[in-house]
Amino acid sequence: MTLAEVLAQDSRRLQQDLDLDPREARLEIQILLCEALGVARSWLIGHDREALAEPAAQSYSALLTRRLAGEPIAYIIGRREFFGLEFKTTPAVLIPRPETELLVELALARIPEDQPCKVLDLGTGSGAIAISIARSRPLAAVTAVDQSPQALGVARDNAARLQVPNLCLLHSDWFGALGAQTFDLIVSNPPYVEAGDPHLQRGDVRFEPLSALASGADGLDDIRRIAAAAPQHLNPGSWLLLEHGYNQGEGCRDILRQQGFSEVETIRDLAGLERVSVGLRAA
Ligand code: GLN
Repeated sequence: MTLAEVLAQDSRRLQQDLDLDPREARLEIQILLCEALGVARSWLIGHDREALAEPAAQSYSALLTRRLAGEPIAYIIGRREFFGLEFKTTPAVLIPRPETELLVELALARIPEDQPCKVLDLGTGSGAIAISIARSRPLAAVTAVDQSPQALGVARDNAARLQVPNLCLLHSDWFGALGAQTFDLIVSNPPYVEAGDPHLQRGDVRFEPLSALASGADGLDDIRRIAAAAPQHLNPGSWLLLEHGYNQGEGCRDILRQQGFSEVETIRDLAGLERVSVGLRAA
């Protein structure tokens, strides 16, 4: 079969089996073909009349089998792009999501380019947020923590490959290992899905670490914990930025106000959904 035929046939199969939209399915098959052939997508597009020959055919077929069983593309190929950088991605970490780039942008808007700033990322996972911030703000000193040693290992690999001298990775359950350290900005994409949400049993999410997704009956347990402890770790006049679910803006704003934060507001993502709430620790 030619590459074009494989693409047409297997996109349809993926679309049906995993209930993907046709463009998504086609893109995913292209990604798997490129992985098996060791080529870039631009090459594939120009050479799609060539046959899918061994040994690539066999490795492609193994990759396709994994995808048809539901495993997310980012775990199969072991990487995902986020904020223009490539992150190693294993089942120990949440797969970086495009909507989380909003959190990075909002953080960068509050970090000066020309002076030092102490930044903390809570629950860093792959390190996507912390590394994106550290690379964009070389003068900032970024600390990133995670309670999962396996996740920290992935973050360490990413930090080493992407060369981020201004990042410190630490094993910590939220603020647990940070002592009395204070910061000029705290950012987090914590777990925030309701424990009983059927979303957790479907699609790619089933393969991701539950500890990075679910957070009690209303999904806000970890946000409550973070917001309660954050004021002691924020210098006066500093911001806390939290990602949350599209229906948790009001809940998150209430929590931030209860903890004494001012200038509390929620920012919508590109899909128009409430996604990040921010609060200021008054000076
Ligand atoms: N946005 C993710 C999802 O809906 C959840 C990420 C998180 O809990 N931090 O799958």
